[in-house]
Amino acid sequence: YEDRDGKIWMDGKLVDWRDANVHILTHALHYASSVFEGERCYNGKIFKGVEHSERLRKSANLLDMEIPYSVEEIEKAKYDMLKANGWTDAYVRAVAWRGAGEDMGVSARKNPVRLAVAGWEWGNYYGDAKMKGAKLDIAKWRRPDPRTIPAEAKAAGLYMICTMSKHAAEDRGYSDALFMDWRGYVAEATGANIFFVKDGEVHTPKADVFLNGITRRTVIGLLEEKGITVHERLIEPTELAEFEQCWLTGTAAEVTPVSQIREFNFEVGALTRDIAETYEKLVRA
Ligand code: PMP
Repeated sequence: YEDRDGKIWMDGKLVDWRDANVHILTHALHYASSVFEGERCYNGKIFKGVEHSERLRKSANLLDMEIPYSVEEIEKAKYDMLKANGWTDAYVRAVAWRGAGEDMGVSARKNPVRLAVAGWEWGNYYGDAKMKGAKLDIAKWRRPDPRTIPAEAKAAGLYMICTMSKHAAEDRGYSDALFMDWRGYVAEATGANIFFVKDGEVHTPKADVFLNGITRRTVIGLLEEKGITVHERLIEPTELAEFEQCWLTGTAAEVTPVSQIREFNFEVGALTRDIAETYEKLVRA
């Protein structure tokens, strides 16, 4: 991804793709002082762009960092980057991090907080699973206790076990892994939230220990508009045997059906297809 044409917005200006580099003594590289956003631009409009910029600033605050750009400035950066690359449909990645400082200690009060906004063209995150349904493994790692890490931040450090779990799942022929939380309840996938259907009602883990996704909240709203009951609650892993349908939500994943979680199978049913289509219409509206 380093050697290609294109423009990336970095610390206030557009730079050539190949020149969008950081120094090896960047604090974030050593101590994970980094937060980011994943967004999608559809037909020239970033879906819930302002909410993403607000979440980016909030994630930074949770890590004791202050991004030196306002929400409006971040919004402008995203559209400037898209325009410079000639994209109307793209994935947008904003990332803020602590740069190099005067020394290399853990304390980073003098390290500048930097911001970059890149993008790329990205089809469905789960490839043809979008139609057939993704197959999920169950991760050996658990989402951490929010008393050990700011679990509601979209922070780089929270993705270490996501990469490890996704690799382990892929090695076993699955497309992704489902995490339990530290208490043992069903939590989320490595980059998406999860929903289940049973007897015409929807059940989704209560977002008290993981990222309460913007897509998750959008989909809950769409279900409620359709008059479907949504239970946000603690879900036991034994309940996986009882659910009939399952899907994942996320900016990259959009609404992706799940056909299998380990030994449990799910139907890519009418409600799953309906909500995927309704979401698709909304983001392109
Ligand atoms: N959980 C994790 C761990 C994620 O990385 C993502 C993707 N940002 C989500 C959930 C879904 O969040 P959103 O709908 O805001 O993209």
